[in-house]
Amino acid sequence: MKLRHSHHNSRQPNRDQSLVDQVFADRARLPVFLRPAHALITGLPSRSKRHKQTTPLRLFAMDTAWLAAFSTLAGTGGAIISAGSLWGLLPAFVGSLGAVGRLRRLVVGHVHEATHGVVTKFYRERGVSKPAARRISEFILDIGTALTFTLNGQDYRREHARHHRPPMLGTLRDPDGAALYQWGVWPSKSQNLYHSLAAIAFNPLWHLGFFYDRIKTNLLKGKAYRRALGATALAALIGSAFILPFSVWLFAIFIPWGPGYQIASLLQVATEHPYGFDGPAENLEQLAARTWERIPYQPMPSGTFVNEPAAWLRWAGEMTLKVSERLTILDDTMIAHGWHHLAWPVGRPFNDWWNTAGQYLDARDAGILPADSECRVVAGVSDALSRQKKHFAARRQQLRR
Ligand SMILES: [Zn+2]
Ligand SMILES: [Zn+2]
Repeated sequence: MKLRHSHHNSRQPNRDQSLVDQVFADRARLPVFLRPAHALITGLPSRSKRHKQTTPLRLFAMDTAWLAAFSTLAGTGGAIISAGSLWGLLPAFVGSLGAVGRLRRLVVGHVHEATHGVVTKFYRERGVSKPAARRISEFILDIGTALTFTLNGQDYRREHARHHRPPMLGTLRDPDGAALYQWGVWPSKSQNLYHSLAAIAFNPLWHLGFFYDRIKTNLLKGKAYRRALGATALAALIGSAFILPFSVWLFAIFIPWGPGYQIASLLQVATEHPYGFDGPAENLEQLAARTWERIPYQPMPSGTFVNEPAAWLRWAGEMTLKVSERLTILDDTMIAHGWHHLAWPVGRPFNDWWNTAGQYLDARDAGILPADSECRVVAGVSDALSRQKKHFAARRQQLRR
């Protein structure tokens, strides 16, 4: 296990390198009609579909529509529950989780990429005038952050720039690292990562504090127009409680926009990078060592169902967890988040951010990934958590010396 974090020749085969290969090997075993679903769940597109043609605005409209659809499903489940049938729990939960995932994607996908300027660049490349391209980007920033009731675009841009600076990534000077530290998730503070995360996720005070910060950034900071949007969003979130039946509001609005969103955010930040570094990343390899690609996938058992029924049932259970990770936390760009950090430093910039995983696969085929970066392909959120736990333990060992 130690080998994973040490330097070795990236051309040597290792367990982690094979996860991407295993995804495609498994896909080849499936009947053709199941392969698109496999591509959707793993987030790794098949070779011919690596570059999905769309535009940031079209995608923004689609994700907003999906948000409405999932929220409606959750509300329908809530209505069935209040009519006295527990069958409503299934649509209520799936709808809530799906709505959480779309809210997260609006932030970590659309808003995040707009702060990087890639939305503006995408439209500029296609002949849109500079002011018009900027207006589209600002529209996505403002509506995306107001609709999700999160950090306003200007504050996000300022903070997120620090997250990308190689000297800061993974340290306390990285705002995401600082947030984890503040929550007690840091090698020096957390003896058991799982206990720490559970204690935070179920702490009402943490949730209230998080929501209070969201109120501040929406109502007290930023442009007047953006504040008005934030106030409208807050009024809709609270006002709907007086209009909708309680159980409908609970699943359609409260859980997705409140604790569900906040827990998904916690788990995303706690697994997006190995954290707890003191000093800066000195070179590309060290920078790569602070990144992960998170593929929500568990390789299939090698035998058939008839030969290995227990292994397949176990696999189905594990995949249920991976699918919920994919639905709530690992949107397309979050899967290949490591490549989001590395593509620019290695000279492979791109503006079609929804194709990040396809871009990663292209670079992988071209053999230009930084040495060792193949070692840091992890099997989704749960695998990232167990690695983070080991990484924290190793950091604590170093600190004791
Ligand atoms: Zn970024
Ligand atoms: Zn990052």
